[in-house]
Order: sequence, then structure tokens, then C-alpha cells
Amino acid sequence: MASFTLQGIPVSRGIAIGRAHLLRPAALDVQHYLVGQEQVEAEVQRLQAAIIQVHKELQAIWSDLPQDAPTELGAFIDVHVLILSDPMISEAPLDIIRTRHYNAEWALVSQIDELSAQFDEIEDDYLRERKADIQQVAERVLKVLTGTAGNAMRSDGIDERSANMIVVARDISPADMMQFRDVAFTGFVTDEGGHNSHTAIVSRSLGIPAVVGMGNASHLIEQDDWLIIDSDAGVVIVAPSTLVLEQYRERQTVLMKARKKLGKLKKTPAITQDGVEITLLANIELPQDAAPALEAGASGVGLFRSEFLFMESSGQEHKLPTEEEQFEAYRTAVTAMKGRPVTIRTLDVGADKPLDTTEHNILNPALGLRAIRYCLAEPQLFLTQLRAILRASAFGSVKILIPMMAHGFEIDQSLAMIEQAKAELRKEGKDFDANIAVGAMIEIPAAALSLPMFVKKLDFLSVGTNDLIQYTLAIDRADHEVAHLYDDLHPAILQLLQMIITAGERAGIPVSICGGMAGDIRLTRLLTGMGFRELSMPAALLPEIKQEILNTRLDALQGHVKKILRSYDSATIRETLAVMGSITPVLPTLH
Ligand code: PEP
Ligand code: MG
Repeated sequence: MASFTLQGIPVSRGIAIGRAHLLRPAALDVQHYLVGQEQVEAEVQRLQAAIIQVHKELQAIWSDLPQDAPTELGAFIDVHVLILSDPMISEAPLDIIRTRHYNAEWALVSQIDELSAQFDEIEDDYLRERKADIQQVAERVLKVLTGTAGNAMRSDGIDERSANMIVVARDISPADMMQFRDVAFTGFVTDEGGHNSHTAIVSRSLGIPAVVGMGNASHLIEQDDWLIIDSDAGVVIVAPSTLVLEQYRERQTVLMKARKKLGKLKKTPAITQDGVEITLLANIELPQDAAPALEAGASGVGLFRSEFLFMESSGQEHKLPTEEEQFEAYRTAVTAMKGRPVTIRTLDVGADKPLDTTEHNILNPALGLRAIRYCLAEPQLFLTQLRAILRASAFGSVKILIPMMAHGFEIDQSLAMIEQAKAELRKEGKDFDANIAVGAMIEIPAAALSLPMFVKKLDFLSVGTNDLIQYTLAIDRADHEVAHLYDDLHPAILQLLQMIITAGERAGIPVSICGGMAGDIRLTRLLTGMGFRELSMPAALLPEIKQEILNTRLDALQGHVKKILRSYDSATIRETLAVMGSITPVLPTLH
């Protein structure tokens, strides 16, 4: 096969080499995980048993048909029995389990997808419509399978099979990404998505190379094709030649060595050459991310995206985590950080993170009932979360961060809800930190333009640059068609950032950045030069940002920072940034 290259949007770092593992859209509606070698036969039997069960059901329906039932009804059932017995359904998915280690549901829908695509190409209308019959039969089998789920265990994530698989899909929802966390895939390639879509965020936090917004990669790439992801360049090379493969393997080794060297900075504080300390914090999605964040040298958690706790059950009947389950999750993160601060953001659902995958806001989800708006509309759910966070605050240093605030009454109502949760806990004799700090995400331009309202009532601010850019520039952060307009150096963004840090300094309250800009090494000098002293990012990016800080002299940058903030010309901004980046007070001294 001839090699070709596809260009997309880089959202993560590094190089991945592996075989394509195609996920068709329907495959995303069911649970999908890889089963370990020793469980393959049990999984095969589970699917066989489900097929037999559906056979029995169809036979029972047949024999229960009333005497006067129309003959077509019997004929339909016959068609379904025939479909079920066809090797395409009764055998091909079993082979998929054996060869690719998919769980039974996933194997079945993959096969159905394949068949559906073939049916779509049939000219004959009657035959083409038989696709619906196949899907109905598959639904029946899936229903039985769901009832028997749990017979097979997921593979433990270090399965060698997944270790060189690159997932290729049209799109992967954040909820589905959460399932993939348990499986050590080597990389992700999606047709859709933007720089800071939540799918991109999860792959970045897993430290896995990924390229999104590839257009139609999932149609051009075939199952098991060899792929190279050059995530820094946003490039995917399909079916590379041996020579190219060798070159990339070498680059991969060099990168790995460099990363290992950076690991030595773990305990070094992030202090600039002129003595300014920058606090580097980690963004996490699940409590189990806290320990690796500490290991990577984080001084705390600057953003715990708690909504991911609510999203782990995609494809299943949706069940929200209880107060007890949330408390355990928050406490796990808090104790893992050993006294370092953990900033727990309250539920930020909506937009590209719907609570329920069946939920569709067809109007404009990004401008809809998202984050704090959702929580204030569902006070019981909000209260449950606040109680759980407060209870976890008795085990370490916790801060509450409220997303998507824009109105004064949202601040007041949130604070009132926190007081109510405290009063309830007090009454019940449960411990919590009575002085817990409460802060707001500044990620809507309205908030950035009315900062006095925020600094008066809150203890800290955290800038969500991903949304601030989305809402200021009016571009959907998840839409690859407008990804070229996503510009973190747009003068409007820089002006807003400057306003936020200045307002925080004047009010004497800390301001951090927890959006993607904080982990972008191109911007480290600019942001610290502007006055930001706390940056929160995916743990995997911490070492390189720390090295950049160690190599920075803030006093030498001031003129350039001023020039950038005064400029309304994109070229001047970029040129000045490049000059700032090239000022090297001391060469890296890592041994
Ligand atoms: C942001 O908007 O920058 C942010 C940190 O929050 P999220 O990416 O989860 O919306
Ligand atoms: Mg946000």
C-alpha cells in the first residue's frame, strides 16, 4: 500500500507508532474494552450464549403467534432467524473477539457496522432495506449481552495488544475517552475536534500522542494500517516506508531520553533566573490522576475536572455518583496530594460534556445550560456535590472552584449553597474546613469585564483560557472547521488576561491559569512576564514548562511583554514572542 500523510490539529506531544484500530460510530454506543488473552474464550462463549438465547426468543415468538396473525409476521421472524444463523453474525464477531480481543458487544457492533456499510452500497432497494433487519437482530443480541455483562474482565491496561494500537474514529466523546483510560492505547486520531475539545484534553492528560480535526481520516485509514502520529506537527503518516518508520523510531528514542532527563527536575522548585517562584499545578480528571501528578512534581491540583466522575458510565443506564462515592473520590485525590492544595471544580457538564449521551441540546449547547447554570437549575445535585467536597476538605487542603460564572447572582447563589451545605454538615456533626477557599473560573468575557464583582466576594480566580477563547472569539472549541480561528494570541485575549491578572493583584487575591495556555511552552514567558504566578496543566507537561521557567529571566522580558500588550498587530505579537523565546540567559544544564 502506498504511503500518504494526513494533516490535522496537534493536541498532544510526542510520537506514536502503531496499527490503526478503527472505531465506527455505532461501536461507540456500547461498552468497549479489550479482554485479556485468558478471557477470550469466556467472552466468545458469552456472545454464543446470547445468540442461542435470541434464537430461543425468536422461536418462542413464532410459536406464540396467534392463528390469525398476518403471514408477513411469521415471514419477518423467519428472516430474523436466518440472519441470526448466518456466519456473518454467528461467527464473524467471534473471530473479532479472538483476533482483536474486543469485548462481545464491541465485536458485534463492529461487525454490524461493517455489514451496514456494505448494505448501503447495494443498488436494490429491497435488499438495502434488509439492513434494518440486521440491526434489529443485533439489538436483540445486545440486549441479552447487557444482561450478562461482567462475565469478562477488562484487560489490565498493559496488554501488549493495546500498547501498539492507535484508535482512529470520527469522534470520541469525553465519556468514551474515560473508558479508554483503562486501556493503554498508543495514540488517538479523530476526524473531528479542536485544540481544546474535551477529547483533546483527556488525551493530553494521559500524555498520549493525538491528532484531531483530521477531516476524513477514519475513512482513508483502514483497520490495521501502520500509522505514525507526529503529534507535535499534527501529522499522521499512513503506511510509512521502512525508512520513515526507522527515522521516527529513532526520534522516539531521543524524545524518551529527553523526557527522562527532564524527570530529574521533579524536586527542583520552578524559580526564574531572577528569583521569581512560579507555582506549577496539575489538572486532573479522576482521583487516581493525583498520585502521578505529585510524582511529576506538581505543587498541588489546580483543576480537578469533577464532571468526569459523572461520565464514566457511557452506554449504560446513567447513574450519578452518590454523595458517598463522590466523597471517596475527592478524599482519594486529597490524601494522595499529601497536604498540597486540591482545587475541585464543581460539575461542569453541558456543551461537549453532556451528562447523558442520549441528551441532545440541539440549540447551542456551548451557550446553553452548562456548568454553574446547570448546577443552580439542579440544586439537589449541586448540594450533594458541595457536601461531598466539604467533607473531603477535612482530609487536607481543598478549594472549591465554580465554572462558567457570569452574573453576580450566580456568585451569591453559589456561596449561599455552600453555606447551606456547611450548615447541614455542622448539624450532622460531620467535619469540614469551615474556611474553605471559594473561587471562580474566569472563562466568559462578561466575567473578565466585571472583575470587581468577583474579587469582592471570592478568594481566588482561575482563568479558563479554553472557554475564554471560545466565547471571546465566538468559535466552537470542538469544531475543527473553525479551529484555524482559535487564536490564543489574539489581542482581545491578551487584553482580557492582562485585565484579570491586574484585578487580582489589586485585590490581593491569587489568580491562576488552568486552561490550555498554561501548558503551552510557547507562552510560558509571556504569561509569567505578564504577572501570572500559578499555572495549572496536564501533569505530563509539567517538566518542560518547569525547565522553561528555570531558563527565564523575567526582568529581561518586560519590554517585550509591554510591546506585545500594546500591539494590535498579529505579526508584531508573534515576532516579539519569538524574540522573547530566543532569549537564553543560561543554556539548559541537565545532566
Ligand atoms: C477552560 O475552559 O479553559 C478550562 C480549564 O475548563 P474546561 O477546559 O474544562 O472547559
Ligand atoms: Mg472551561
